[in-house]
Amino acid sequence: MSEESILNEIESNREEYINFLQRLVQINTYNPPGNEMNLAVEIEKYLKEAGIESEIFPFGDNRANLIATLNDNFDGHNLLYNGHMDTVPPSSLDDWKHDPLSGFIKRNKIMYGRGTTDMKSGLAAMIVTLKILKKLNIKLTGNLILNAVPDEETGGKMGTKWFVENKLNSIKCDFVIVGEATGYNPLPKAIILGEKGIVQIKIITNGIACHSSIAFQGKNAIYMMSEIIENLDKLEIPDVDPPMLEKALLKLLSSAFPNEETFKRIYNEQPQLQSIVKSLLQSTKSMNMIKGGVKENVVPDHCEAIIDFRLLPGQNSEMVINALKKLINDLGYKINNSPKGKPGEIFVYLDIFLQSEPSYWRNWEESQKLKDFSNIVEKIYKKKPINFLFPATSDAQYYRNSNYCEKTILFGPGNAATAHAINENVEIEDFINAIKVYSLFAFNFLK
Ligand SMILES: [Zn+2]
Repeated sequence: MSEESILNEIESNREEYINFLQRLVQINTYNPPGNEMNLAVEIEKYLKEAGIESEIFPFGDNRANLIATLNDNFDGHNLLYNGHMDTVPPSSLDDWKHDPLSGFIKRNKIMYGRGTTDMKSGLAAMIVTLKILKKLNIKLTGNLILNAVPDEETGGKMGTKWFVENKLNSIKCDFVIVGEATGYNPLPKAIILGEKGIVQIKIITNGIACHSSIAFQGKNAIYMMSEIIENLDKLEIPDVDPPMLEKALLKLLSSAFPNEETFKRIYNEQPQLQSIVKSLLQSTKSMNMIKGGVKENVVPDHCEAIIDFRLLPGQNSEMVINALKKLINDLGYKINNSPKGKPGEIFVYLDIFLQSEPSYWRNWEESQKLKDFSNIVEKIYKKKPINFLFPATSDAQYYRNSNYCEKTILFGPGNAATAHAINENVEIEDFINAIKVYSLFAFNFLK
């Protein structure tokens, strides 16, 4: 079996793979609520026809995890592919040129629909890879494992985290690919080696209401919030060095350009790209929502605000929460365990509603497997990919941070800029290329 025969197999079945992706896009997995079970059943059916058994783990209301493996032997090198089944909702339907559940294909070139980029194309390409390796009956010494997960768009605790904690204990893995879209036009494809973390906290200040003609009798919850806001820069979140310094990040980016000069010229014209680089060098915080007061002559007893923290690898959400608690205590306020207090009680309540840890593959520069992967991407996409970091967050954290497998990368079809956007789409050629990359890498990794 040669690489050529794998590529020929893919070329001669393009239409079938495209149809399969279209079917996945047509199944509604908007999260919330998710309904990933409907997609899991479709995947199970497709793999069964290819002679591959999958196992579905149902939970909640029509939700599910799915695991499938190429064979029953886990003694050799194991490779794990991860793709999430849920998508974000479409937001305003009127703004879509084509129904987000249609999978409409324009001129055989572009498929439109929610999830085409994020990330049913990546997931479909991984499923198809299993089928190709099975069909060609390639003798492999290792195993390819697929985790098709729910819940990624709402934190991943019931999806990838659940898999790592409950189903992967006995399966050792040597390399993980999460198939998120890693196209960043005008750059070539990226291979993502680390991500920032997120903590979002709703702060509720609870004061005492009264008529504002006797304002001194009450406790103004808006003033309490404003005290917290004014002191946010005193938060003692431990500083860490970014995983890569600016010079190193720019070097990675410039590797995609013919020479340093061309890179500098393009980089200077791209404020968006400059902001991404800057964001990878620091943690940030931003208070993004605030609400308080009920009437022009009433001292408010309730104010709430949402603050968003982005963390560097080396920091974690516990550090942020502890620093915020300390700040509030230092201002003289007690922190309540419930948003409802006793009558006349003055307190602050913290609702930590999103927590996603940063993660980073520390020794990626030493990995031969990563170099092999990069070479395959270059061969298929005819352009050298860049190694880079990601300012947002992904399920990769659960593999890296649990020590299950730090060697986890993000790589997938689609342009990250169209993820979560109106008229989300994927280029068909990008999807086919991803199938080629996943298949050739698995073939080389496991043979
Ligand atoms: Zn995604």
